[in-house]
Amino acid sequence: MLRNVKTYYRPTRIEEAVILAQSSPNAVYLGGGAWTVAQGSTQLETVVDLQSLPLNEIKGELEGIQIGATATLQGIIDHPDTCAFADGILAQAAMYTQSRNLREQGTLGGTLIVAGPADPLTTVLLVLDSEVHYLDPALHKVPFTSFVAYRDRLINTRVLVTQVYIKRPKRRHAAAFEVVGRSPKDKPIVCAAAYITVEEGLPAEICIAVGGADARPARLHKMEHLLKRQLLTEEKVVQALTVGLTQLTPFDDFRGSAEYRLAMAEVLVRRAVLGAWERARRA
Ligand SMILES: Cc1cc2nc3c(=O)[nH]c(=O)nc-3n(C[C@H](O)[C@H](O)[C@H](O)COP(=O)(O)OP(=O)(O)OC[C@H]3O[C@@H](n4cnc5c(N)ncnc54)[C@H](O)[C@@H]3O)c2cc1C
Repeated sequence: MLRNVKTYYRPTRIEEAVILAQSSPNAVYLGGGAWTVAQGSTQLETVVDLQSLPLNEIKGELEGIQIGATATLQGIIDHPDTCAFADGILAQAAMYTQSRNLREQGTLGGTLIVAGPADPLTTVLLVLDSEVHYLDPALHKVPFTSFVAYRDRLINTRVLVTQVYIKRPKRRHAAAFEVVGRSPKDKPIVCAAAYITVEEGLPAEICIAVGGADARPARLHKMEHLLKRQLLTEEKVVQALTVGLTQLTPFDDFRGSAEYRLAMAEVLVRRAVLGAWERARRA
């Protein structure tokens, strides 16, 4: 419950929403409201509801896919342009984010803003060639990796995320997503995503990300560098992992110890990379 809210805005223009949020003390955007209402902050005095803004569209184009910030998580799973995109890893990640009821309510923007260290959607978007569009109130388009790195600063200045844009690869490609949770449908404790494009039978580009093994989902750049343009074998992947895992600083919590998280990261990254490679070769 939001007991102390005194002002409720429901703008119909995107720029207006940003100005309202930035000029009101203790204001917050309301996407689906799942997280905000559950938190029930007594500090919150102004809400800027985003549901009347034209930001809920999912649209596939020749060059890429636009996913509006107020598109729901279930919308990403159901929409024909996103459900099978990149071997279905985007839809798979949306599925692991929440239960069905919360997926109908929760939006892409709200989910990315409150995403925890093991957030599956953030992990998958890190390996896809994606960018985030936001208004502060000027329009900015930044690579998804930069959005993740500077997210806390962007939240403090109350920028409005308007969409995620995912470019379509020009080459043959394949992807895989691997998860371990307390039960098969639960949120991940650790997850890993891999995305490979192929040229002349070799990985031209290889992107690997892990969630739940560091303060935020992270790309394993050193490991990617070692595997690029190599014929991938299990031995090579295991060898590159010894370097890749040194990039991570895992943490302990009630879901798993740091040691467990690192061990799972090793297993899941290996499976994701080899799984994506197998698919790429068969494609
Ligand atoms: C009890 C409960 C606890 C939860 N705790 C967590 C948690 O700790 N971590 C987690 O990842 N998920 C948590 N969730 C899951 C949450 O439901 C999902 O993350 C959900 O998808 C959030 O999306 P939303 O649109 O409902 O977000 P909202 O509640 O509408 O917004 C969440 C935050 O994002 C901001 N925001 C929303 N849209 C935008 C936008 N377009 N641009 C900029 N800022 C925006 C809001 O101002 C707010 O700060 C929880 C859910 C429940 C019910």
